[in-house]
Amino acid sequence: MRTQFLPFHQPDIGSEEIEAVVRTLRSGWLTTGPETRAFEQAFAEFVGARHAIAVNSGTAALHLALDAIGLKAGDEVLVPAMTFAATAEVVLYFNARPVLIDCDPETLNIDPGLLEASITPRTRAIIPVHVAGQPCDMDRILEIARRRNLHVIEDAAHAIPARWRGRLVGTLSDITCFSFYATKTITTGEGGMITTDNDAYAERMRIMSLHGISRNAWNRYTADGSWYYEILHPGYKYNMTDIAAAIGSEQLRKAERFWCLRQSLARAYDRGLADIPEIQVPRVREDLQHAWHLYIVQLALETCTLDRARLVDLLKQHNIGCSVHFIPLHLHPYYRDTFGYRPGDFPQAYATYQRVVSLPLHTRMTEADVGDVVDAVRTIIAQHRR
Ligand SMILES: *Cc1c(COP(=O)(O)O)cnc(C)c1O
Repeated sequence: MRTQFLPFHQPDIGSEEIEAVVRTLRSGWLTTGPETRAFEQAFAEFVGARHAIAVNSGTAALHLALDAIGLKAGDEVLVPAMTFAATAEVVLYFNARPVLIDCDPETLNIDPGLLEASITPRTRAIIPVHVAGQPCDMDRILEIARRRNLHVIEDAAHAIPARWRGRLVGTLSDITCFSFYATKTITTGEGGMITTDNDAYAERMRIMSLHGISRNAWNRYTADGSWYYEILHPGYKYNMTDIAAAIGSEQLRKAERFWCLRQSLARAYDRGLADIPEIQVPRVREDLQHAWHLYIVQLALETCTLDRARLVDLLKQHNIGCSVHFIPLHLHPYYRDTFGYRPGDFPQAYATYQRVVSLPLHTRMTEADVGDVVDAVRTIIAQHRR
């Protein structure tokens, strides 16, 4: 058994990020400025998008995206039940309604086959989430959206770098929202990025990210800037700092290398867990690139005498940190009480929730660490076979 605790997640910050932060601190420019512009440009090039707008969280990115499409009170937006709080709460900011959709139990992604039945005259958009880093079936989602005249905004918080049929996530739909939260595949501590090919959306999101004041207001204190600005709309305070952007640019340079490491760790898990029938490893479609933000296994409850919570506890006793993605939204008190949801209203999300465990997957791990997790799972399962 491991003597040292293996954390579920660890950020991978090297001397490059530290030096970039120090350089920024010394530069005398801390908030949105040249580092942020450089990070935006590099990110736009990386995913191949026309515009990239840096913000201070993935949640802010989603909020600005819904503002850009003109979401109004009383509108409806289709969001997965199996997601994090942010995906649905941003809809509620507008007094609009998040309409939950059940998941495909194999990929945990929103089930495109259930979308049409939930579309009403008030439906304005779909927010698919690429759960764990595996892209949703974007062809089906985009086809439904086109036919029913809906916007598609991707919650790509897990999806750097992920590919749908050869194309990087970031250019597939109207607007794509990324997160650089501390646990994500690349991080700025807190931060987010929005990509779009639509000039009008980009302009609106850039303005709204900084108080709704006129373009280029960020440089009003530089030699080139002007003191004059105009408030065009009541906006938000969502701009990224140059300190965060300096970290982001260094992380982006490492994104491909991080991905290779994550993929080999995921493959090591696949191999190691293959002969434990009680554990279902992630099922990945052939025609896409999984970003491997998370490695989510499913416990075959019928075959053993322990439940998911107990498995997480026992892994912790074996010095292995795990997590659960996600507690479906409809089970949380706010959604349950506001919309009157019952657990069985989203049967796949509910059933899958009982089975899922996210095993440690990060670039500070080695294949030997994966071996330790596999050994611990094997030992625990052997003690709980039916
Ligand atoms: C992390 C996450 C977000 C939000 O990201 P923040 O940067 O923390 O605001 C949104 N959606 C999903 C699915 C996430 O996991």
